[in-house]
Parts: sequence; structure tokens; C-alpha cells
Amino acid sequence: MPHVPFQETGTYPCPVCHCGDIQSLSLMEAMSCSVCQHIFTPQFEEQSLKLADSQVGLQWYWNGKRWQGKPSHVLAINWQYGVAAIAFVTLPTLIMGVSAYLFPPLPGTAFPWFPLAWTGLTFISHVGCLLYLASEYYQFPLGLYVKTVGRRMLGRVQVSNQ
Ligand SMILES: [Zn+2]
Repeated sequence: MPHVPFQETGTYPCPVCHCGDIQSLSLMEAMSCSVCQHIFTPQFEEQSLKLADSQVGLQWYWNGKRWQGKPSHVLAINWQYGVAAIAFVTLPTLIMGVSAYLFPPLPGTAFPWFPLAWTGLTFISHVGCLLYLASEYYQFPLGLYVKTVGRRMLGRVQVSNQ
């Protein structure tokens, strides 16, 4: 695949959802994605693209084939978020697990599996919480994404059947 410069007339893959295409909006110095509807500010001299409609200062550089993210300050913040996220999931699960282990149900009690199930539930609910927060934070259109990927897979199945 030859190197393609980042220019106003081209169509490029979306760096946010990875399944749509971004194109220049007519009469505007902005580009938008056909799937996730994010708005980007292109900087053609720098061959870079900035996410314009989110508080997250995400920026990518075009290397001729694909986007490369270099948001150093965002990464620094994300590192701390990562630690907080891991603690948020592991601590409650650990507490539940340890207490279930230290205080096992008396033999013959009803629902002896309950502490274990509760530990699992704690883990799942905290992970779910995190996923929801992350998708909200990045304004990631989970529904649209699933729909587009599904449509593509269906299209591929139909093509291969013919
Ligand atoms: Zn997109």
C-alpha cells in the first residue's frame, strides 16, 4: 500500500471508532466520521488530527497509512485512571473474597455458594461500571459501533454466500 498524504480531499479511517471514514465537511475547516459522528480539526501542515468535540484532548498523527496517537499528557492522566480503575475493581472483590474465605458458611447452611456468587457479582458489576464510565468519557457510541460492525459482518456473509 503506497503512502497517502493527509489532505483535505481524502477519506481516512476514523481513529476513534476504527470502523467509519472521516471526510472534510463542506465549507468548514473540520472533518467528521460517518459512523461515530465525532468532529475533528485537521492540521494538514502537521499531518495531524485533533478530536474537537470532547474534553479529552486526543490527537493523532498520520504516518501515510494509519493514525498514530501521541497524546502524552492524556496518557499520563490515563495511567492514574488505570490504577484507580484497577483498585476500583480489585479492592471490593478482594474484600468480598477474603471475607468469604475467612468466614466460610457453616456446614449445612442454606445457600453455601452465596459468598462466592456475591464475590463474582461484585467483580462483574464493578467492571460494568467502569466500562460504562469509559464509554461515557470518550463519548464512544457503543450502539452505533456494534450496529456498523454487525452490518459489515452480515455484508461479508451475504457476499460469500453468493
Ligand atoms: Zn468514527
